[in-house]
Amino acid sequence: MFETISKGFRAARERLTGKGELTDDVVAAALKDVRLSLLEADVEFNVVKRFLQSVKEKALGEKVTLVAKKQGDTMRVRPEDHFVKICHDELIALMGPVDTSLNRARKGCTGIMMVGLQGSGKTTTAGKLARKLQKAGYKVMMVAADVYRPAAVHQLKVLGQKIGVPVFSIDGANPVDICADATDHAAAEGLDFVIYDTAGRLTIDEPLMKELDDIKARVQPANTFLVIDAMIGQDAVTTAKTFDERLDVTGVILTKLDGDARGGAALSVKAVTGKPIKFLGIGESLDKLDEFRPEGLASRILGMGDIVGLMNDFTEVVDEEQAMKDAEKMLSGSFTMDDFLSQIKTIQSMGSMKDILEKMPLGQMFGANIPPEALEKAADDKELVRVEAMIRSMTKEERKNPEVFLDDEGNSGRGSRRQKRSVHKTAKEKDPNDLRPEDFVAARVSRVARGSGRTEDDVRGLVGRFMTMRGMFGMLGDMFGGMIPGMPAK
Ligand code: GDP
Repeated sequence: MFETISKGFRAARERLTGKGELTDDVVAAALKDVRLSLLEADVEFNVVKRFLQSVKEKALGEKVTLVAKKQGDTMRVRPEDHFVKICHDELIALMGPVDTSLNRARKGCTGIMMVGLQGSGKTTTAGKLARKLQKAGYKVMMVAADVYRPAAVHQLKVLGQKIGVPVFSIDGANPVDICADATDHAAAEGLDFVIYDTAGRLTIDEPLMKELDDIKARVQPANTFLVIDAMIGQDAVTTAKTFDERLDVTGVILTKLDGDARGGAALSVKAVTGKPIKFLGIGESLDKLDEFRPEGLASRILGMGDIVGLMNDFTEVVDEEQAMKDAEKMLSGSFTMDDFLSQIKTIQSMGSMKDILEKMPLGQMFGANIPPEALEKAADDKELVRVEAMIRSMTKEERKNPEVFLDDEGNSGRGSRRQKRSVHKTAKEKDPNDLRPEDFVAARVSRVARGSGRTEDDVRGLVGRFMTMRGMFGMLGDMFGGMIPGMPAK
């Protein structure tokens, strides 16, 4: 997601790198890169124009901030960083202000009406929302009001069964009556939320709009959410405009942002309709609904990762207290292979490695260029299974103190000077007193390799990556310490 747009921002940043200051010429060239990528990603034309205009004004108008004072020292902000910061702020301004709250009915049950074209993801999103509300402790019911596609009613019932949320339906009745009856039923049952899954069409037509209008007038839901498939590109904005003009929606939910969507809709919808994006659908399964946070999206668009989103995923799958303890341990950079193993389990329940890696600020940690093969390997979920096998082949002590896999030169049994010096000796010739730390290291590596059915290089690779990762999370702790409850500021 957003690769097209990110590419433009990266090109712009590179263009500015090494330049002394942001002059008219260099800014114009950088903005050209950004412009092309925004248009290619289906951002609405006028939105692109306004965005570039404000970035330009700020980039050229704030020369004075290029020199900032930090702890008494004068520090020059690099032009490329300044440019990225301006883009970041403008992206947030474009997509925000954020408002992911749900309107609550003044009294009784709160209605959420889902509207949108057929196939946009209404039914799936109704299920995702119901699950989210139910997890938050509310009593929820879904209403099958798409009577034209029998499969739609069945699909909603299956979803309801999966998450344990009741589904209201009446065979042969018209959608307006079904929704009205459902509203009475929900009130009588003392439910907190009722979600109406309405019918869609392949394109917008008058009978559909009239039906939705009638349902809305009859049940007066506190929330009307327009569900839009982000994959439809430019059409997303037109669809949003038409639905909103007729139904005065309260918010938009963009779906399928996990796919090949180029993300333009996310940047355009708020600017064009004035209605906030509430949630993002980022996968087919029912836990793949994120609250919309422009900061996270802006950072991802600029290739800076979405560390807050990552933390949210993390807290969703483990109980909060445990999550805090784990996060604290991770971020203090002092966790062991055992902790690593339990993190692997947590990570596995957070989703695929690809999703997780997308949210990590890898660019900031390792500089801009990570070899694609390295990312591919890290995104391979089977890799976690291999890692698990290797850790399980380690002794308790080794898991607790993975440092024992390193000799005093920081090598894990290969390539150290001393080891090379002693290779010519056979085991027999060796005086036991002559055993050096690297011999123990090599023996450990070899034992773990045999135990897990992996190669010694795999084990050495794991130890190396573990050490890097521990350092990396420690660094994140330094960066974000204090922002996370329970984490001491460093
Ligand atoms: P409706 O006709 O608007 O009710 O759409 P559905 O809920 O039936 O969804 C249409 C298709 O889109 C289904 O195959 C869903 O699994 C899929 N879908 C819905 N939301 C998402 C999403 O966020 N990501 C992906 N990849 N697929 C989605």
